[in-house]
Amino acid sequence: MPAPRLRSRSLRKVFRKVSGGRVSLHYKKKKPKNAKCGNCGALLKGVPRALPFRMRSMAKTKKRPERPFGGVLCSRCMRQAIIDNIRQ
Ligand SMILES: [Zn+2]
Repeated sequence: MPAPRLRSRSLRKVFRKVSGGRVSLHYKKKKPKNAKCGNCGALLKGVPRALPFRMRSMAKTKKRPERPFGGVLCSRCMRQAIIDNIRQ
């Protein structure tokens, strides 16, 4: 039975082969869910699924597409938002 702090379902189990040929059970934090479009809810492409400490060390250009509303809206909703703004 694992230690009480490791019985949490917010952790995932990873089987790691360690030196000596033994397989050891490691506990890792689960990755966050994929980023979604703020308008239609579609999965955003080009936005990594990484833990905050990894995101912090990542370059800004690697964290979202470089376009207006990049990392917030999907490309289709971004186009529509721009058209809607021009019409007003
Ligand atoms: Zn969208």
